[in-house]
Amino acid sequence: MGKREVIKVVKGQAVSDGDGVQLTRVIGNGELKEHDPFLLLDEMRSDNPGDYIGGFPDHPHRGFETVSYMLAGSMEHHDSTGESGIIGAGGVQWMTAGRGVIHSELPKQDKGLLWGFQLWLNLPADEKMSPARYRNFAPEDIPQVLRDDGAIIKIIAGEVDGVKGAVSGISTDPLYIDIALPPHGLFTQSVNIGHSSFAYVIEGTLEGENLQKGSAAVFGEGDFIEIGAGASGARVLVFAARPLNEPIARYGPFVMNTKEEIQQAIKDYNNGTLTG
Ligand code: FE
Repeated sequence: MGKREVIKVVKGQAVSDGDGVQLTRVIGNGELKEHDPFLLLDEMRSDNPGDYIGGFPDHPHRGFETVSYMLAGSMEHHDSTGESGIIGAGGVQWMTAGRGVIHSELPKQDKGLLWGFQLWLNLPADEKMSPARYRNFAPEDIPQVLRDDGAIIKIIAGEVDGVKGAVSGISTDPLYIDIALPPHGLFTQSVNIGHSSFAYVIEGTLEGENLQKGSAAVFGEGDFIEIGAGASGARVLVFAARPLNEPIARYGPFVMNTKEEIQQAIKDYNNGTLTG
């Protein structure tokens, strides 16, 4: 094998979701509906409270995982299990919705910068109805690697230079890392053959691929990826995971394998039995 080439560049699209929250949607509509097992990637980044103050009031999920990663500001969540918490800057919440969660995600601030990401990661058919589970990580719980060239790598999931990420034991064996590269810095990372992978630029530009803030590079096959920062450096989120190769039936916050299972989810939600 060898280096994974960029086979597609996707520009994030402006969308509004929740109660009027302005987002950049990278995966989940338009140019990239999904990138198996990744179902959605949203970036929320604004210092205008009108863009985020409404947050995401009570809504359900079934059949996948949501991963929230904050870089500035904080979000508070409350859910149907009675659990609640605050995700602050640098923190991560890895939520396995499984058979069902109803929760709210609201900004814990009324001014200033709010900057964060939400990834939706699909679950295999035999885990879609598993019990809901939360894993919460404070910034200091996210392992970090410093390379000799000054690159700083935060490892939410997966492994870099022998250092394991905060989250493990996920069936699709995901890699989720946040890389800050110095000007002209070069980052290489091995990726399992057969896994889906992509990188999303959140600051600066990458060399060679006309990739800048707000754009994602989808990689082809190979056993490693290489990312080169432009003259002002770059910050990039890099993802990889084993594709499920299962049918996807998708309706808003429910992602199942068949239309019947979606109808069941809607029924369960309306009956008040979604969360089991
Ligand atoms: Fe949610």
